[in-house]
This record gives sequence, C-alpha cells and structure tokens, in this order.
Amino acid sequence: MAFTLPPLPYPYDALEPHIDEATMKLHHGKHHQAYVDKLNAAVASSEWETKSIDEIMLSLDKVPEKIKAAVRNNGGGHYNHSLFWQWMSPNGGGEPTGKVAEAIEAKFGSFAKFKEEFEAAGMSRFGSGWVWLIQDGAELSITTTPYQDCPVSEGKKVLLGNDLWEHAYYLKYQNRRLEYLAAWWNVVNWNRVTELFSQ
Ligand code: MN
Repeated sequence: MAFTLPPLPYPYDALEPHIDEATMKLHHGKHHQAYVDKLNAAVASSEWETKSIDEIMLSLDKVPEKIKAAVRNNGGGHYNHSLFWQWMSPNGGGEPTGKVAEAIEAKFGSFAKFKEEFEAAGMSRFGSGWVWLIQDGAELSITTTPYQDCPVSEGKKVLLGNDLWEHAYYLKYQNRRLEYLAAWWNVVNWNRVTELFSQ
C-alpha cells in the first residue's frame, strides 16, 4: 500500500500568527507531499513497499544501497512531518504538566531552562535538520539531527521535535531562526508529548 499524506489536524491558518498560513500550506501540501511521493517512488516494486513507515525508520541499515539514500531522506521526511503536525495545535502553548513537567524539571532545572537549551541546540545545528527532546528510560535529553534523520533510527524515543529547515520559517521569519524557535512554543501541543511520554 502506498504511503499517503496525513491530513493536517487543523486548518492551515490555525497556528497564526506564530506559524503563518502560507508556510503551513507549502510545508504540508508541497514539502511533505513531495517526501511521500518520492518515498513511494523509491520503494516501488521492492519488499519495502509493504512495510510501515515505523518499520522502515527502525531498519534503514537493511535498505538496499540502491534506494537507501532516497528511503532515508524521504522516509524520514514523511515520518518526521507526520509527527510534527501533531506536535502543534491551535490550543497549544503554555507549559507541560504532570510527569512531563516533572521530568523536564529533574533534567533541566526548570521549563524556562529547558526552552533555552532547546533553542540553543536548534541554533547550533548548521543548515537543515531537526532539534529533538528524547526520552531514555526516565531521563530526557536534547539532541539534533541533520537533514531528515530521526533519533528513532538509533533506537531513541522522540517526545518532541522542531523543524529547522528554512522552509519551516523563512516566509515569515526570513533568516531569524531564533525568533521562529521562540514563537513555536506558543503552538506546542503538550498533550501529544504527554501521550508519547506515557507510551
Ligand atoms: Mn519541513
């Protein structure tokens, strides 16, 4: 079965003014769609065609050399963006509560400190990539990846991730990545993070 673009769980303008409608339309409708299309083209007529995207992300090292780069880049693009839309919500923002809040405080000292470190990590990634909050047992940590790589491929559990590609922010924020990283907290869906933390 071919991979398909998941519908955006809210209207394109729902994250305004923090993430603008034009960016969301291009990001979901063009960029994510392109990852889906190119992933489908790469796995066509191979055994990878029938695997789930989760299976693919966990076994990239077994993908044949001929299609490995295309599957890694576009499979990662499909996987990461499918999560990314869920990590944002028009009802997002604020602070996490319960176990996630406790884990953040235990690791980073405070929610403010966590945000500072997450933004600093996002700024330190040169070029395109992602910044992640990952869970290793009870402990949390922040990491970044280049391109569309995802820590799940290294056996890590991701709780939250932000897209550092210029296509995620350039229309509204131009070269001001830090401004985008700071504004993004206003739409973060902590309910989804809490669900992932508990799984
Ligand atoms: Mn993107």
